[in-house]
Amino acid sequence: MKYLVFLFLLVLAAGLIYWRLRPYINAARRVFGVVRDAQQRVNAPPSQAADATRREAHAPRARAGENLVRCGACGTWLPASRALSLGSSVYCSHACLERSVDAPRHTRRSAS
Ligand SMILES: [Zn+2]
Repeated sequence: MKYLVFLFLLVLAAGLIYWRLRPYINAARRVFGVVRDAQQRVNAPPSQAADATRREAHAPRARAGENLVRCGACGTWLPASRALSLGSSVYCSHACLERSVDAPRHTRRSAS
């Protein structure tokens, strides 16, 4: 019976200590999280830069906020600087341009 009381007091003391230390434990956990966050942020930029470089290689002339134009043959939207213009129509590629020339949608001589 005496041991039981002792054990109870021990648990109570441990609980009290844990309760008193809880703010510090939370603070330490937050600090650890911040450190981990900072490490991720430090590690992130190089890969993002690599991604940007890769995007740049794929679309060297494309810029954010640029006007988009629609391909007259396939309907693909693309930056105006990358479009091939033929008169008033624009096309995304030489293939589409040739396709449009071969089979124009709006012919002036519709009856033939
Ligand atoms: Zn096209």
